[in-house]
Amino acid sequence: MELNERADIDTSQIEDGRGSGGGGGIGGLPIGGGGLAGIVVTLIVALVGGYFGISGLSGPGGESTGQPLTQCSDDAQKLQVLECRNGLYVTSIQNYWAKQFPESFGEQYQPARTHLFSGNVRTACGAADSGVGPFYCPADSKVYIDLTFYQVLAKQLGAPGEFAQPYVLAHEYGHHVQNVLGTEAEMRRRQERDPGSANQESVKLELQADCYAGAWAHSAANTTDKDGDKIFTSLTDADIQEGIQTAGQIGDDALQGRGGGEVNPEQFTHGTSEQRQKWFRVGWESGDPTRCDTFKAGAVS
Ligand SMILES: [Zn+2]
Repeated sequence: MELNERADIDTSQIEDGRGSGGGGGIGGLPIGGGGLAGIVVTLIVALVGGYFGISGLSGPGGESTGQPLTQCSDDAQKLQVLECRNGLYVTSIQNYWAKQFPESFGEQYQPARTHLFSGNVRTACGAADSGVGPFYCPADSKVYIDLTFYQVLAKQLGAPGEFAQPYVLAHEYGHHVQNVLGTEAEMRRRQERDPGSANQESVKLELQADCYAGAWAHSAANTTDKDGDKIFTSLTDADIQEGIQTAGQIGDDALQGRGGGEVNPEQFTHGTSEQRQKWFRVGWESGDPTRCDTFKAGAVS
């Protein structure tokens, strides 16, 4: 996988809300032994018990604000910087949906910003800390990520491949697509009517987000910036396999097993590794988001 250094990052879609220091890039991100272990424990609990963090949010919410990514304007250096590469992934994902969304769903796509934070953040969905992992907040239509999550993904969850990063972002933007379409709101109403179905409904929502991520992956190599420059100069099937591998590493069964406890399917909220890989593949192989109908009767058993 290689990114095109001439491609422009749409920095208007990224808010940098990390500490007063702001940037720092790869070298500036903390890699603490004990601290990282602490993050992993909470993350796994949240991934298993919550909805990529959403239902795990608590405390007062608020409006998240941040600065534009000014450090991403230098063509020569920007792709060395983690947040800039992620900014370019976001550009690719959103430019894909700007084109695909009307074709698939007959409506305009509404862009959603990604908010970078470190430690903790206030969102319209409540307060969150890094332990919940990346998440999407439907109430303010933003993707939230502490980029140190990628170290957890690589070192603790066994998904070190570079494509793991755009996969995670594409999954979160899949939740945004669900928000724009009203899929997420409908699901919540069904969960309220029938609380016993809540986890199964959550699994379907998560698998659909994986499928949407796969649909983006299908077309990612063709995505362009605002000037028409390709965003990826190289993206192979082997790269995509890293995305599938990531999906396999964060299935509920894999996470529960790694957490040391017994694997209990009734507590699944995201789907098994096999289901997550399967639905990513449905999107990737078809390139057709309308095929991602995990809510259809019998689609997910
Ligand atoms: Zn999710």
